[in-house]
Amino acid sequence: MKILVINCGSSSLKYQLIDMENEEVLAKGLCERIGIAGSKLTHKPAGKDVLEKEEAMPDHQVAVKLVLAALQDKVYGVISDVNEIAAVGHRVLHAGKYYSDSIVVNEDVKKVVRDCFDLGPLHNPANLIGIEACEAAMPGIPNVAVFDTAFHQTMPEKAYMYAIPYEYYEKYDIRRYGFHGTSHRFVSKRTIEFGKLNPDNSKVIVCHLGNGGSISAVVNGKCVDTSMGLTPLEGLIMGTRSGDLDPAVVQYIANKEGKDVNEVINILNKKSGIFGISGVSSDFRDVQKAQREGNKRADIAVEAFVYRVAKYIGAYVAAMNGVDAITFTAGVGENDAVIRNAICSYLGYLGVTVDAKKNELRGEEVEISGADSKVKVYVIPTNEELAIARETKALI
Ligand code: ADP
Repeated sequence: MKILVINCGSSSLKYQLIDMENEEVLAKGLCERIGIAGSKLTHKPAGKDVLEKEEAMPDHQVAVKLVLAALQDKVYGVISDVNEIAAVGHRVLHAGKYYSDSIVVNEDVKKVVRDCFDLGPLHNPANLIGIEACEAAMPGIPNVAVFDTAFHQTMPEKAYMYAIPYEYYEKYDIRRYGFHGTSHRFVSKRTIEFGKLNPDNSKVIVCHLGNGGSISAVVNGKCVDTSMGLTPLEGLIMGTRSGDLDPAVVQYIANKEGKDVNEVINILNKKSGIFGISGVSSDFRDVQKAQREGNKRADIAVEAFVYRVAKYIGAYVAAMNGVDAITFTAGVGENDAVIRNAICSYLGYLGVTVDAKKNELRGEEVEISGADSKVKVYVIPTNEELAIARETKALI
């Protein structure tokens, strides 16, 4: 069975075709600059040359057609007929309070994605366009929506309520939702399996540290808290996002700089985080290089990032009244031994120790805690596309 995984952004479309017999990626690729001059398809079939094609893509509909053509291409293709695709799994950002699991798309599901446009203004419209483009190009082939928010729907009220007038929750559904749910679900489940934890008696903290970052607290496989909120802006210090701050800062900057709220939020989303503090880059590798070269602001950025992660871990140990395993994942979490070590150095009070040798390993599932560590620490690579494909397969 072959599953096509699609992740649509406002002007992009990423895809992977996965053979579910062996979970191998048959082809993956990216359409860029959809709706903008200079659109381009990059198609990477496994074991074959890369196809790069500059071709007008006025909308996602055309992009989906180009992707399907590339997948069936005589030279670069990996299937001979579109009907070999059993289903399409779509990454969808926001399901609001409506879904706690993935779901086969029908008109009701599309209405929910539409109803959540306000909550995910950059992503949900693009996600819906992607779904509709696949419906048009592949009639009869089921589409499955896999939501970034779904895994976090098990959070209790005390974790998701903001302490603002209740009427705003009632009228506008303003509350914490959390994101990266597909990754947190996948990685927490793998932690329980890999660490041989008791699925019905386990407390896991997942640190998804990439360009965007979030942490979740998972009890018996269910999320009880996570660091992102109504939008992905809350929580950790990220590549370009501020994470937590006093909301009065928004008013203060607006007044001082003569900006409106939207402009300030844009700054908090795109010009803040480790980029904002360091002034160097949003990429951890660049900022750490600058830090090693003695750049003071880069040093503060990295230190502040690590400190915030450590504070969240402490908060979630308290929320769960304990922790069995702490798992690192995503770009920084999987690759950066220095950051992992720095975070763990705050966790002596939990009896956490790190095995320096194992901490250097990369690209594989590994326990990095020392033999004497009271809490297990793991690195588990995330694979959101595979997780989406698995959920899609399970549903059809
Ligand atoms: P996202 O999916 O949120 O865009 P990723 O999970 O790909 O982000 O993570 C990107 C981040 O991971 C970047 O800041 C990058 O510097 C960092 N990263 C990637 N590879 C490495 C590496 N080998 N060592 C340290 N950091 C890395």
